[in-house]
Amino acid sequence: MIDAACALCGSRQRGVILRDGIHSVVRCAECELVYVTPQRTAQALIDEVYDASYWRSSAARERGYGDYAADEELYLRTFRRRYGRLAPQLAPGGKALDIGCAAGYSMRVLAERGFDVYGIEPSAPIRDVALRSIEPARIHGGTLESAPFAPGSFDLIVMWDVLEHVPDPVRVLGRVRELLATNGRVVIETQNVASILARVLGRRWTHYKHAEHLVHFSPKTLGHALDMAGLQITSLSARGAGKVVSPKFIAERARRLTPGLAWLFGPLARLPISGFYVNPFDEMIAVARAKDVQS
Ligand SMILES: [Zn+2]
Repeated sequence: MIDAACALCGSRQRGVILRDGIHSVVRCAECELVYVTPQRTAQALIDEVYDASYWRSSAARERGYGDYAADEELYLRTFRRRYGRLAPQLAPGGKALDIGCAAGYSMRVLAERGFDVYGIEPSAPIRDVALRSIEPARIHGGTLESAPFAPGSFDLIVMWDVLEHVPDPVRVLGRVRELLATNGRVVIETQNVASILARVLGRRWTHYKHAEHLVHFSPKTLGHALDMAGLQITSLSARGAGKVVSPKFIAERARRLTPGLAWLFGPLARLPISGFYVNPFDEMIAVARAKDVQS
């Protein structure tokens, strides 16, 4: 564990928002970035956080997902909906890169939409799931730094639920800028710490998962990070950032938030519906492009 400085400006001047065990969530006094300290090193994150138990977790509230691989249909529906909504802003087809592609669900939807798609996934257990349906040459099993792609080679680069997990988001975005073709677009989805739900729920906000969510962006700090990397936002919205979830997922989350009303949500979990779209408006999707090109 290391005491983290602000990932945007390097300052250690900060105010504590909340303490939870050994972790504090703090706000940088210089640039307002909200981040967690202490943090694991990059290698310790791969070894200790993103192992098999992350993707099939018995304590998903604290770390990871209930069963990422089993929710295949829900993720495919989520990504079909998201890419459908983004389509007017993205040139059709072309070469796409999915950073943190997990089980490859977003990659499969991009392929359905005519993209020549590649992925990067450093976590072996979930990469193995992706490789059941995607050819191995399309997925780089390491980090973005070690990926063998030429500068300017992608028309579209996507990061779904990724930027909040990396210790150095500006360096990652700088590499994204390098890999982006002229007039290419970047799509970034991350949770919004300035959202109404985050403010109302305070420490009960479900995105406070300190081993994995190292940074909590707001529209302002996300814009700042992109700007530092030579990128600029062309649109930012919470609309379309929802997810297709199972009735069981909703019932469990509602029970946690309001334990006194647990009896109310039991029947919900047994509804004969495979999933429905829910948007609590506490995540945001940014579309960005390089700052120094005309398009
Ligand atoms: Zn700062």
